[in-house]
Parts: sequence; C-alpha cells; structure tokens
Amino acid sequence: MIKENVRGILESLSDNVVLVAATKTRTVEEIKEAIAGGIAVIGENYVQEAERKHDALGGIVPFHLVGHLQKNKVKKAVRIFDMIQTLDSGELAMLVNRECEKIKKVMPVLIEVNSAEEAQKSGISPDQVDIFLSSIIELPHIRIEGLMTMGPFSQDEEAIRSAFKRTKQLFDHIGARYPQLSHWQYLSMGMSDSYRIALACGANMVRIGSSLFGVRERNN
Ligand SMILES: *Cc1c(COP(=O)(O)O)cnc(C)c1O
Repeated sequence: MIKENVRGILESLSDNVVLVAATKTRTVEEIKEAIAGGIAVIGENYVQEAERKHDALGGIVPFHLVGHLQKNKVKKAVRIFDMIQTLDSGELAMLVNRECEKIKKVMPVLIEVNSAEEAQKSGISPDQVDIFLSSIIELPHIRIEGLMTMGPFSQDEEAIRSAFKRTKQLFDHIGARYPQLSHWQYLSMGMSDSYRIALACGANMVRIGSSLFGVRERNN
C-alpha cells in the first residue's frame, strides 16, 4: 500500500519537485517500503527518533530535519541530518555553524518562514527574513538553499494559498537580491492536505506523511 501511494504521488509530480516523506512515528519497515516505492528523501521531526532510524537504514537516503531544532540537540543533529529545513534563529545558525565546523561539514539549510504569522508558530516572520538572512549569510559552515514554511493551521484554502503565495514572492525576492547564494533553489511547502495548492504556488519540495502512510494517531 505504501509503495503504491508513493508511486501514485511521484507520478503526479513534475520532475523538478522533491518529494520528502514525512516519517515521524513511522517504523523503519514502513520507511523501507516507501523507499522501495521511490522515496529519495526522509523528513524527520525529532532528533532522537531520527537517530534511531538513521542507524537502522544505514544512510541509504538523505535525512532532512523538518521539526523544530532545540539548541541542546544541535551537536547530534548535524551528524545525522543532510539538511536542516527549520533554521529559525540567529543563535541556532551560530550553533549549527560551530558544530559543523568541528566535524568539517557544510550543512544545507532552509530558513523557516512563519508565513501565516501565527504567534504560536516557529519560523521567521516574512518581513524579517531579509535581515535575518543578511545576518547569517557569512557563516561558512551553513549553506542557505531556500525557504520552508508550514502555512496556517487551517482548512481555509484561501488562507493557505495566500500564505504560500507570499512565501513564493519572498523566495523569488531573495534569489534576485542575493546572487551570492549560489545554491538558492528550494521552496519547501505543502503537506498531504495542502501540497496541490503549494505546487500551484511554486513549491518545488513537498513534505507528505499521511497520504503515503495513512493517518497518524493523534498527538503525534
Ligand atoms: C508531519 C509533517 C508533515 C506531513 O504532514 P501530513 O499531513 O501527514 O502530510 C509535513 N511537514 C512537517 C514539518 C510535519 O511535521
């Protein structure tokens, strides 16, 4: 079933779109089935859970961190992940840079944008992204490759569309304004219920969980 779900979604995506399987709470067996169906990138939310799965899978696919990164987990996170999609503070950027320097790694990162401007959400407010970016652009051990956003916690398609459109505008604006960002390329937005809207708004990376694996238990 998982394999078929993956294939169905991959067939519907254009070639330039990266499908990230959002695998929080899923077992290693489920993840292996998704990989057999064609999944090439795993997205995990929690460092400890990701570490266990990363060890079990032996590095056959890259792991992206798509959940909030706590400062005390940075050291471990930079060893496991191939991209951090949720860079959302200058302090975190410094810590990631410092830990990566120690292991001689350059970490691809996306800046998380709070496109819905909901107070309880993490992410940089859209009008602060430019100044945030200029404050971290010189860090040698992070490589800024694009933006990630969750969008609003809402079923309101227009609210979702407007948050995604705004994020796409910001993505284009930054790409034009900072030509030195030579790896600027990813706009990560859209989940099971919203990825079609996100693609219509210009996303080229979508993070999908329940449409691949089935609905999760609540509270996960
Ligand atoms: C869980 C999760 C997803 C996928 O959500 P689904 O609704 O299961 O597709 C995408 N992005 C992030 C950051 C998530 O935590």
